[in-house]
Amino acid sequence: MPHAVTQPLTILHDSLSVAGMAHLTEFTQRERVVRALKGWLGLTLAAAVTVFVPILHFVLVPSLVIGGIVVGVQRMRTTRMYTRADGTCPRCQKAVELSLDTAQRFPKWTYCPHCRASLKLIMR
Ligand SMILES: [Zn+2]
Repeated sequence: MPHAVTQPLTILHDSLSVAGMAHLTEFTQRERVVRALKGWLGLTLAAAVTVFVPILHFVLVPSLVIGGIVVGVQRMRTTRMYTRADGTCPRCQKAVELSLDTAQRFPKWTYCPHCRASLKLIMR
């Protein structure tokens, strides 16, 4: 069972800064292997099904087989997935919830959904 973790971060706007929190999911070695096998197996089964589709199978079968390998390797390498960040906007002081990429790198530049202030998120 993947477990949710939080990481402290700082939200900056001009010279103002406030504390925020990044939320992420961490995977154990066993969870990464299970996720990788599920991704690989799903696309490999899809490739097996598309063998029976005339003409398109020339493209679909190799694409899905290669896609299965790529997805499996990516999931095996994914130790953590970011979900969101929250805190308060340094300019308007309203609570903000910001979306993060699953493989987010910091610093991240984004905007306050309330006042459109530019925000910079950095890890503490
Ligand atoms: Zn704001």
